Amino acid sequence: MKLLLVEDEKRMAEPLVEILRQEGYEVDWQADGAEGADALESGVYDLVILDVMLPHKNGFDIARDARRVGIKTPILMLTAKSEIDDKVTGLDSGADDYLTKPFSPRELLARLRAFSRRQYDLAEDTLSFGDISLNTKTMILSGRSGLSVRLSEKEFRALEYLMANHGQILSREMLAVKIWGYENESEYNNVEVYMTFVRKKLSFIKAKTVIKAVRGVGYELRAEDV
Ligand code: CA
Repeated sequence: MKLLLVEDEKRMAEPLVEILRQEGYEVDWQADGAEGADALESGVYDLVILDVMLPHKNGFDIARDARRVGIKTPILMLTAKSEIDDKVTGLDSGADDYLTKPFSPRELLARLRAFSRRQYDLAEDTLSFGDISLNTKTMILSGRSGLSVRLSEKEFRALEYLMANHGQILSREMLAVKIWGYENESEYNNVEVYMTFVRKKLSFIKAKTVIKAVRGVGYELRAEDV
């Protein structure tokens, strides 16, 4: 795991870098806000530990700008006070979590472990495309809108197949096999019925990802305006 620490106080940063390296993390340290922002926007880090009060660019602005240009690197923000305002501003600006100064190294290490566990779990269980994500264990479909809905087993099989093969047109025959299995005698136009069900769920979560019918061929999942 490659970490970026953006912290201008040397007496705090140096021992922290030392501890993190001892724990096996690869760490780069930036003491300047503007340089820290450039480093974060390089996109090479798995996580950034970001102080708020920094020379040239503060942590809130760094987080906000990084999110605006599409950087998804998790941000753990170090807030100076335990004031609720700082936490809220931090989370609003795009931070994923915060730690209040002063904190113990043990607490930081625990947060880092929680982060890597969470990322691992997400990678294992979630399929994402466009503005939707599908949890393959719970069959819950979620959108960027924050809305989510549970799919039936057949709807799930259909959408999972479309998501895993986005950008390709899938024939009704292939979809029928995926939904009902080889043995089934279902009419191909039942596929159409299931596409309607899945479309309803996509529109329920206000997704901009859509199932396009390609006349005479099949269906394709497309992300529009996202
Ligand atoms: Ca500082």
